[in-house]
Amino acid sequence: MITGKTKVLAVIGNPVEHSLSPVFQNAGIRAAELDYVYTAFPVKEGKLGEAIAGMKALGICGLNVTIPHKERVMKYLDSIDKDAEVLGAVNTIVNQNGVLTGYNTDVKGFVGGMKQMGYEPKGKQAVLLGAGGAARAIIWGLIQEGVASLTIGVRNVPKVRPLVEYFQKYMDITLLDWSTPEFDRALAKAQLLINSTPLGMCPHVEAMPPVNWDKVSKGILVYDIIYTPAETLFLKQAREHGCLTLNGEAMLIGQGAESFRLWTGIELDTEVMAQALREALA
Ligand code: NAP
Repeated sequence: MITGKTKVLAVIGNPVEHSLSPVFQNAGIRAAELDYVYTAFPVKEGKLGEAIAGMKALGICGLNVTIPHKERVMKYLDSIDKDAEVLGAVNTIVNQNGVLTGYNTDVKGFVGGMKQMGYEPKGKQAVLLGAGGAARAIIWGLIQEGVASLTIGVRNVPKVRPLVEYFQKYMDITLLDWSTPEFDRALAKAQLLINSTPLGMCPHVEAMPPVNWDKVSKGILVYDIIYTPAETLFLKQAREHGCLTLNGEAMLIGQGAESFRLWTGIELDTEVMAQALREALA
């Protein structure tokens, strides 16, 4: 029951009505038997500063931040955690007695997905397809986990070069056009293959990134961060080729569970949240 003592959490963005976070965060709150509620506030671009001041004034305990505010929200916060600082984006704010700290839980979400299935990225030769917004957390996660090498394949190399140059100070990264023989050679050595493009996402389920499966070793982990559909054409072909597969559900739920831990101190069994997500998507 919501009472005068109920603590408030929310996601802010624009648009935000479609967000699945209220669905699985409230499932987590119920499972942990906490007196919290999680809702969604649409915040227009020019109103972000007022929204953050309102968070302090109203004593809102925590926020998730989504598009288009993840970068600009940083200037309104009192401190920024290391992952968020490196990525230049905040997706979680914790309000501790009026002091606001920004975090980015996408990195832990991405890595946690692999760890949950017992996969250890350390020392692996990784190949990443696509390099847009979500790829930043993936690249930073792979660097911190200590992959042996990282090759990024994209359709437009000049567009992605600044992103790769930014991360070169942490690790030597190879950037290739994914239609070249050099990229096929990198694919042949891959032990971990990740799709961060939207190719194959609902409703365009017939699409997939260009992968020559003849070059890919059987038994490697193929990770698609898309979660609708649960099995993209890319993952289906990977499975049929004899690869281990992982979809984006664990990354989505993992980032949410890490936000939940930062707000409440509780480490949830993420299956509760995942179940709520699956029911909402069905
Ligand atoms: P984004 O910023 O638009 O970047 C997508 C990347 O894919 C870019 O490199 C882009 O290349 C490439 N790409 C897009 N359309 C393409 C096409 N038709 N052919 C070839 N390359 C194409 O998107 P994002 O925010 O990174 O998100 C990517 C996907 O990840 C989405 O499906 C999203 O739902 C999913 N996602 C999942 C999670 C999770 O928690 N599981 C979190 C975030 C995102 P160009 O720059 O050349 O267009």
